[in-house]
Amino acid sequence: MQSSNLKTASGYDLLAEGRAGKEAGGTAAQTAPDQDASERLLRPAMLRGWRRRCPSCGAGPLFQGFLRVRDHCPVCNEALFHQRADDGPAYVTILIVGHIIGPLMLALYIKWTPDPLITAALLSVASVAMSLFLLPRIKGAFVGLQWSRRMHGFGDNERG
Ligand SMILES: [Zn+2]
Repeated sequence: MQSSNLKTASGYDLLAEGRAGKEAGGTAAQTAPDQDASERLLRPAMLRGWRRRCPSCGAGPLFQGFLRVRDHCPVCNEALFHQRADDGPAYVTILIVGHIIGPLMLALYIKWTPDPLITAALLSVASVAMSLFLLPRIKGAFVGLQWSRRMHGFGDNERG
């Protein structure tokens, strides 16, 4: 609970500083993390997140439990509490699952005209299974994206 307060506070501060820095041509001292020499490639970071691994080292587990992101990576100690995936992963999961199940419902009906109860039962199970599979992976990819782009304070804890 304490760490989430810290995260929110520093997240908003850094967001404001980042905007101010960009508007001023990125010359402000606060934008130093953006000029950090270490490159954070987007694709590998998102792929590591998809595999539910730390976006920095790719070895440490990203989550404790099903969806709770660890505060720090147990392998490389990278700070992960900056993440603010919020509703994004749920939105993308619903978008994908809906676009698969919707047409599938229509196709099933046109081809076999199955009993509505059977259709509902089958597609409900399929929706839940797909959602449970996709949600943590998409959330991991979101965290990878935010870490890679140094959003919400990611990158601030480096020597700079
Ligand atoms: Zn790590």
